[in-house]
Amino acid sequence: MTTATLPHPVHPVLDLRAIEQVYGEGDTAVHALRGVSLTVERGDYVAVMGPSGSGKSTLMNLLGCLDVPTGGHHLLDGVDVAGLRESQLSLVRNRKIGFVFQSFNLIPRMTAAANVELPMLYAGVARAARRERVAAALEMVGLADRADHRPNELSGGQQQRVAVARALVTSPSLVLADEPTGNLDSVSTDDVLTVFDQLSAAGRTIVVITHEDEVAARAKRVVRMRDGVVASDVRTVRVGDLPPALLRQGALR
Ligand code: ADP
Ligand code: MG
Repeated sequence: MTTATLPHPVHPVLDLRAIEQVYGEGDTAVHALRGVSLTVERGDYVAVMGPSGSGKSTLMNLLGCLDVPTGGHHLLDGVDVAGLRESQLSLVRNRKIGFVFQSFNLIPRMTAAANVELPMLYAGVARAARRERVAAALEMVGLADRADHRPNELSGGQQQRVAVARALVTSPSLVLADEPTGNLDSVSTDDVLTVFDQLSAAGRTIVVITHEDEVAARAKRVVRMRDGVVASDVRTVRVGDLPPALLRQGALR
């Protein structure tokens, strides 16, 4: 096959090379990341775990292009974002990253549909296309019938699913979630994780920062941070991928 017939770009979605992040200077400098190298291919579903202070939030800020590293290279779809100015970074954030936060971050006085529409207003998508994509995204998260509800008329799990719809609607290269189930009960957690499963099955690239084993167990890969470095990076076997006979034997307990 020649490269011209390849359906996808040749670059991984994420390519972190020897990333360093130092806060402050001199004696009081904190080395939050001390040489993180990590590649995430299109369609992967990665959980980032690690104890408090290990550098997860720092990494999240970099992955979300909210900050630039003090050292190393951060390539997003093959483009090094380390050298970009703030105005360029904000464009990259809007076009390439779909954020899901622990606290949902929906706008209270706007309906679910209007919240989902918002990133497309910033991106200048035409009205008819916005309508269509809002409907498709709400359908995807199972909330087509809640389009006209405001956040305070929705459960926590429903609000987070609206936030996931908002994250999807620009077709970002990367869906980036920071403790997305941290404020949810177990039923809502499962609802949100089921939506992530569906996104992953549809080929989306997902990175989720979490301290919950239940969340990590649904990902395809678990990266553990420790003291500012990647301590381990393991592909996981999902329960659904195992033959039923093995499950009946209680192999995973
Ligand atoms: P985690 O999210 O895994 O708890 P963080 O990325 O928040 O870890 O923090 C990693 C290290 O960097 C910690 O030692 C923390 O105190 C330090 N740190 C984080 N943000 C800042 C900051 N803005 N200024 C100075 N030190 C910071
Ligand atoms: Mg943190």
